[in-house]
Amino acid sequence: MSRLYKKILILMPALLFLQLSMQPAYADNVRIDADNLNIRSGPGTVYEVIGEANTGESYPLVSQKEEWAEIEFGGQTGWVATDFITIETENNETAADSKETSITIPQNNTQIRSGPSTESDIIYFADEGSQYEITGEKDGWYEISVEDREGYIYKQLVKESNSSSPGFKDKTIVIDPGHGGRDVGAIGATGSFEKDFAFLTAYELKQELEILGADVMLARPDDEFVSLGSRVSFSNTMDTDAFISIHYNSVPELPEVTGIETYYFQEQNEELANYIQSEVVKATDANDRGTTQENYLVIMQNVKPAVLVELGFISNEEREDLLGTIGHQKKIVSGIINGLGKYFAYE
Ligand SMILES: [Zn+2]
Repeated sequence: MSRLYKKILILMPALLFLQLSMQPAYADNVRIDADNLNIRSGPGTVYEVIGEANTGESYPLVSQKEEWAEIEFGGQTGWVATDFITIETENNETAADSKETSITIPQNNTQIRSGPSTESDIIYFADEGSQYEITGEKDGWYEISVEDREGYIYKQLVKESNSSSPGFKDKTIVIDPGHGGRDVGAIGATGSFEKDFAFLTAYELKQELEILGADVMLARPDDEFVSLGSRVSFSNTMDTDAFISIHYNSVPELPEVTGIETYYFQEQNEELANYIQSEVVKATDANDRGTTQENYLVIMQNVKPAVLVELGFISNEEREDLLGTIGHQKKIVSGIINGLGKYFAYE
């Protein structure tokens, strides 16, 4: 056997492997069929829980090992038990969604991005009324072809234009992440801080609202101390259409207590509070603690439509865990957005 031939024989499996691994990444998706399903750092129950998935959510399948599937979530990968999931091929998914084959751009300068995320670069600004063929879907984004390259547009943006809802365009929303800096807020069952949960929600909410065309400002842009008075005057000096103060509760002596509640002060803001409360409860399945009139400073001295939401009890260890997951945060955020959407539609 010639040396060269030997070399080729040795290389063959490697080449074959290369060929196989060159198939498009993440051709399959994992659909979650259970609530509060653990996502673990490895393929077995001995591995640490690093996240949680819920019914109906879909994640790219990275690999499989025995009864475990590796998925991509929140910029990392983790493992879920295959007993509680369905693996779907991308083709099936497109077939099921085949009623929508093209989109019409709802407004001028609509952002098209290089990937299915607001973190991805903007590669193109599309004109109102122009049409694009949908070539795929990923994580709530449509894949379209723009100037001979792949681009992504947020699904909600297109949907919004097809519904009768006036949406969030030209709305100014001030989000107030409660506490910050030396004021850590309430303390969770395992020592977590309310200020961090509040910021997580505020940040997610800001991103989603901006995608929908709103102007969004944070009354506390970072982990720093901001007085209640400055938060209020910030809202009062802006052209604020809605002010939402984000908080989390804690009653360490009653660790079983859970639920969501919304506060308003001025009578005319009761409606805004009701919409947000009912939509967040609907989106998260949380215990409904209702809406209450209360003289909290940030809403009492606010001359703009203002509410304060208490989005869960971090003194309940299970909730504290759940509230730290992006999946659950996204549910909260979609509830707030639906509530705001209804308020703007009927105000
Ligand atoms: Zn608070």
